[in-house]
Amino acid sequence: MPFAAVAPAEVPVRGGGMFPVHRIYCVGRNFADHAKEMGASAPASPAERGRPVFFLKPADAIVIDGVVPYPPGTHDLHHEVELVVALGKDAPPGELDRDDAQALVFGYAVGLDLTRRDLQAEAKAKGLPWDIGKAFDASAPVSEIVPVAAAGALATKTLTLDVNGTRRQHGVLSDLVWNIADILHELSKLYVLRAGDLVFMGTPAGVGPLQVGDHFHARLDGVVDLSGEVAPPLASR
Ligand code: MN
Repeated sequence: MPFAAVAPAEVPVRGGGMFPVHRIYCVGRNFADHAKEMGASAPASPAERGRPVFFLKPADAIVIDGVVPYPPGTHDLHHEVELVVALGKDAPPGELDRDDAQALVFGYAVGLDLTRRDLQAEAKAKGLPWDIGKAFDASAPVSEIVPVAAAGALATKTLTLDVNGTRRQHGVLSDLVWNIADILHELSKLYVLRAGDLVFMGTPAGVGPLQVGDHFHARLDGVVDLSGEVAPPLASR
């Protein structure tokens, strides 16, 4: 080898050990109130919901110490608080049955799908891919992963995000347009799901800007919290 391979990104697991990250899948427009605030139409019923919006982030976009350097190339870094689903088993070949989806889930975390909103908006307006708005270094701060048995039932739990002590986002997981089984089923039609995959499940309304020095506190109520701050850009340190 001409150089040493970069070590894989890892996320701590509550109770001990590290979870090695394979891929980071993200779901767009999975809360109707957020779809509306982004100017997209929200499905009126499951029959009208069509297909979910998916995108990916690089595995090494993970941040586990809560310190997020303000990214380059943007003047409008946005927060999106999300449930993160961690897979602990490979999916069988082919399309995954919804009833078999939960068996793949290792645990849950709370994370931020950080977004360079200005770059995303510019790409959308031109009909171009959004990658530079979503898939960048340190764009995926995430809490420790709580194993399924310790997390309990998620359906009615709330997701919140406070910035500098002020509530910015609030959502209830029962309002997800596509639930975890739906999303893993849909992803399996497009990708080979593996142990180590993380799925950011989409954000409720209230997305907004983060500035250098802001402190954020994300919470999956009764399960896990993530605290952190936006640090100066790497180049200015
Ligand atoms: Mn998102």
